[in-house]
Amino acid sequence: MSLMQISDPLDKSTNEKKFVVGIDFGTTNSLVTKYSEGNFNFFKSGSEEIIPTIISISSNNELSIGKKPTKNSLEISSVKRFIGLSDEEQKILSKKYNYNLTIKDNMTAFEFHGNKFSIIDISSKIFEYLKEIAENQENKQLYGAVITVPAYFNDTQRQAVKNAALLADIKVLRLINEPTSAAIAYGLESKNQGKYIVYDLGGGTFDVSVLSLEKGIFRVLSTDGDTMLGGDDIDFLISEWLSKKYDELANLSRSKLKQYSKLLKEKFNESSHQVIENIEGCKVTIDIKEFDKIISPVIDKTIKIVQSAILESKVSISEIESVILVGGSSRISMIKRLLKNKLNCNVLDDIDPDKVVAQGAAIQAEILSGNTKEDILLLDVLPLSLGIETMGDLSEKIIPRNTSIPITAKKTFTTFKDGQSKLLVHVIQGERELVSDCKSLGKIILENIPPMISGMPRIEVEFQIDADGILSVTATELNSQSRATTTIKPTFGLSEEDISNMISEANETADEDKNARRLNESKIEAKRVIYALEQALSSDGNDLLSESEYNDIVTELDHLKSLVKSDNYEQIDNQIKNLEDKSEFYVERRMNKSINSLITGRGVDDVL
Ligand code: ADP
Ligand code: MG
Repeated sequence: MSLMQISDPLDKSTNEKKFVVGIDFGTTNSLVTKYSEGNFNFFKSGSEEIIPTIISISSNNELSIGKKPTKNSLEISSVKRFIGLSDEEQKILSKKYNYNLTIKDNMTAFEFHGNKFSIIDISSKIFEYLKEIAENQENKQLYGAVITVPAYFNDTQRQAVKNAALLADIKVLRLINEPTSAAIAYGLESKNQGKYIVYDLGGGTFDVSVLSLEKGIFRVLSTDGDTMLGGDDIDFLISEWLSKKYDELANLSRSKLKQYSKLLKEKFNESSHQVIENIEGCKVTIDIKEFDKIISPVIDKTIKIVQSAILESKVSISEIESVILVGGSSRISMIKRLLKNKLNCNVLDDIDPDKVVAQGAAIQAEILSGNTKEDILLLDVLPLSLGIETMGDLSEKIIPRNTSIPITAKKTFTTFKDGQSKLLVHVIQGERELVSDCKSLGKIILENIPPMISGMPRIEVEFQIDADGILSVTATELNSQSRATTTIKPTFGLSEEDISNMISEANETADEDKNARRLNESKIEAKRVIYALEQALSSDGNDLLSESEYNDIVTELDHLKSLVKSDNYEQIDNQIKNLEDKSEFYVERRMNKSINSLITGRGVDDVL
């Protein structure tokens, strides 16, 4: 496999340095960081470099971002867990957080004190805030940012993050995987060689990657993880334990319990044996053995995932030199102990696990903007296989997981039915065999396939993944060179087009959007009907129809053709129906004819 250089040589000729930052958009905390000549500057929110990824709304409707909520305010936290999820998935997840969901502009939205925010609104407000504090403290306009995402994020989630940043008017230089970013921070500072594991346990996500570092070249050999596993889950486990063990605490609200659980958990690292805490007048005592037992379901899960990532990478455990610890939750002592024991290697934790991801992103931003002469080669891998749906609800993988990106891959398919003129290409992501178990990313329709018997058309489906891990799909019928609309539109989330509409605050209403879609669908259907009927008429219209019957059908057909040019989908639909009614007898005659010829051709014995 060849190495790909993906550091852009953006005009290095100018002396003016561009103001670029790395953004670690975390589930719990976010950081915005600049790197320059060996130094990092972490822009502050108030006095904090580690900025809570929280929006809070006070009872008098004041919005504040990046601050721990005050007493009477309502908070929206863990937004990153919701980003890029379908409405249904958001509904299920919101139960865990006690959020009230509603609908705004046809999208799921969170409702607080009567205010409605979609997940993209909330995320972009956070990005806006990060941009604002960086610009104020640097006293310069931001040129662009490298934004990190969990390695396990699928295409829809990546698009959603990118869209939220774009809405906040941030130029996204690149999205990079968080573990890769941590490796950049360590690789450049320690110039180590060898095989490494990046273990990243944050607030809401767990990521593990197996990497090899050689003279400043990073290769990700495999990635694994869980987008729904992190410090939050540890807090839930402790909450459960608290409310079971202490009757006085059983009636506390979930969010209060979670707050106290987090406090208890974070205290553990300083005082190793026991933590005693007064919670709402109740004296809570917990020793380290009990603590380890409570949290072990989460920690054990992470260790299993580490082991499966190692298996996948084909690296043997003895080859692993170190584990790089990333994420606030990696401070838990049980994790270090287990990793050391199971992998028999040392644990790298000398860069602050809260900052290491942001540092790598800041370095990468500096390189991509051409501000530095440092050269870096970076290989990243696809976290989940990508493929399309084939007959029988089956998934056909086009790019297997852990393939290095950027990449282009093609596969050729054919049709199932005779004369099939359209083909639906359903793009899916995931490892399972059945489409219904994979994640649907979008659908494109390949039209105008000339009528051929099944198996004749050669339909080439090309997947292209750019350096951000974002996918475009092209389907081409090779005999006729018919080509489908190339960009894949995610099933949910926003397209680039939607974003630019929102930015320019176009006044298009939801109804108009719906009408446009309806019109498009009607036109596609009309074209299909026209095509089929014209094909039929030219092959046997003269044989099966009288002159007046023929002319009647052509008149209705011409009427539909002229309506297709209009913008009235109701009229188009009515005329489709009318044309179908008026040509029904002809379709029947054709069917009889084909049965006749089948019988005649094969002989009676074959048919009975
Ligand atoms: P994310 O990347 O998801 O934003 P972070 O890396 O900022 O998350 O980690 C936040 C998580 O780390 C929270 O769940 C927090 O409770 C946890 N955390 C922070 N410090 C400690 C600590 N000392 N011990 C255990 N967990 C901690
Ligand atoms: Mg993180």
